[in-house]
Amino acid sequence: MGVILKVDSIHKSFMGIRALNGVDLEVEEGQILGIIGPNGAGKTTLFNVITGLIRQDLGHIYLEGKDISRAPIYSRVRLGMARTFQNLTIFRDMSVLENVMSGGHLHINSGLLDCILDSRKKRQEESRLVLDARALLRLFGLEDKADQEAINLSYGEQRKVEIARAVATRPKVLFLDEPASGMNPRETEELDSLIKRIRKDMHLTIVLIEHDMNLVMDICEKVVVMFEGSVLTSGSPLEVRNDQRVIDAYLGEDIV
Ligand code: ATP
Repeated sequence: MGVILKVDSIHKSFMGIRALNGVDLEVEEGQILGIIGPNGAGKTTLFNVITGLIRQDLGHIYLEGKDISRAPIYSRVRLGMARTFQNLTIFRDMSVLENVMSGGHLHINSGLLDCILDSRKKRQEESRLVLDARALLRLFGLEDKADQEAINLSYGEQRKVEIARAVATRPKVLFLDEPASGMNPRETEELDSLIKRIRKDMHLTIVLIEHDMNLVMDICEKVVVMFEGSVLTSGSPLEVRNDQRVIDAYLGEDIV
């Protein structure tokens, strides 16, 4: 497996606050990589820079060897990056199916004229979109909720809808920002299996920020620990968990 994503010496400051101070990162294709660290370590800022929400001051980002450091968000999505956010961002008044279909719209080629004429191409693409979204909902165990308004689902289910919508863009690399936050233990257990399942079935590479160490330990092949805007260390979950610097900076003695 080769490196699919490479982050090279990223710096980012906000009005004098150094959020990222020379971050390097390599993610192998097909890997589930966890990013952990205390509050304010720079994890979300790193996601924002990689996915193009904010621009880095210095440094480069490569996706499949291509320098995307200056590419706008929509190009990065087209090239195969999708993400979820720390706070839930679904379309609450739309149905679950429509939420997931909105991710798939990226791959629709029909134009205004096709819509006005209700062309065969437009109708075929629309049917494909519905079929693909329903298939994803099956994979996510939400098939029977397809026609419900998203707002009526439980919190854990809404989180799943958000992930399904990101997966509907057919990414190569999926970024999940604290996917387990606010979930109860049963929902977190389901999320654990879901992440493994979508990695396998959708051939994804997954990068996730997470504070739930049980989840990180169970699903990640590699863990990167951030502290004060830099990478403190990285390695297997076990190596990281037993690293005294990580225990001191983040985990505390209880976890070991
Ligand atoms: P958490 O686990 O709490 O989400 P984090 O590791 O994701 O924390 P960031 O949110 O990336 O950390 O924040 C890193 C630092 O950058 C913090 O000091 C934060 O206050 C600062 N920061 C982040 N975004 C901005 C912004 N838009 N404007 C000013 N400062 C910011």
